[in-house]
Amino acid sequence: MSPHAPPLRGSLPPGGADPAWGGPAPDRPVNDNPLIRLRGITKTYGEGHTAFQALKGVDLDIQQGDFVAIMGPSGSGKSTAMNTLGCLDVPTTGEYLFRGVHVESLSRDQRARLRRRYFGFVFQGFHLLARTSAQENVELPLVYRGEPAAQRHAAAHTALEKVGLKGWEHHTPGELSGGQQQRVAIARAIVTEPQVLLADEPTGNLDTQRSHEIMELLWRLNAEQGITVLMVTHEPDMAAYARRIVRFVDGVVASDERNPHPVALQAAHATLNDAGQEA
Ligand code: ADP
Repeated sequence: MSPHAPPLRGSLPPGGADPAWGGPAPDRPVNDNPLIRLRGITKTYGEGHTAFQALKGVDLDIQQGDFVAIMGPSGSGKSTAMNTLGCLDVPTTGEYLFRGVHVESLSRDQRARLRRRYFGFVFQGFHLLARTSAQENVELPLVYRGEPAAQRHAAAHTALEKVGLKGWEHHTPGELSGGQQQRVAIARAIVTEPQVLLADEPTGNLDTQRSHEIMELLWRLNAEQGITVLMVTHEPDMAAYARRIVRFVDGVVASDERNPHPVALQAAHATLNDAGQEA
């Protein structure tokens, strides 16, 4: 760590720095020490009479393995909250603990390393490189990490297989449907084996059927791979896949509810029941 880096608060377990990102080794998440803890988070854009407070004191705990849909009207602070959660931006005041590490105290460089190590991002507009194959798009985060070619190829192959695109490795985005492009973007987000997948309106550019396919994929990544998913959506049909629905209004969390029957879980149960009846 640079001698000029700000002091790191938060628990420093025996062993000190985590070689994965250079900061303190994060805590193991347990119930009273969640994966993510936001306390009194505010975010003010601008200064003086043009200042605008987009977040006005957000408290939120997210356990490892949760699947949270973030909803709320336009301008309510969802994107600002996602940028904070994804370590892309820092709050004006308040505490953000990621596995016990105080993110708000990290330098920009430390935050970037934490982000690259633990977070994957999926956006509404896919953000793929146009004249580059699916395989190469997916490998990009590993290129930035400096991983050797053979490891990158293997990891990208596995990630593309996980999203159902085995056999499409050499197609460019222009040769793929919108749903397939979003699958490539998801493969790129999970190729680094992140703990948290942040998805900002991942189905916003897709028709209904493709949207449900993408939601089933996110559901599977959560249920089967244990990836914590945080997703902004305007669509109640898509939020219905989440285990929990958090609604923002005017820069605060207005409601925070468990979804006792996530959609894909119902589908899985229906399949099990059908199979049971047939047996
Ligand atoms: P949402 O994602 O719910 O639509 P945002 O988090 O994007 O809400 O924005 C919340 C409020 O903060 C909005 O009023 C928006 O205009 C304002 N805002 C967002 N980003 C900036 C910025 N960079 N500068 C100034 N105001 C901003």
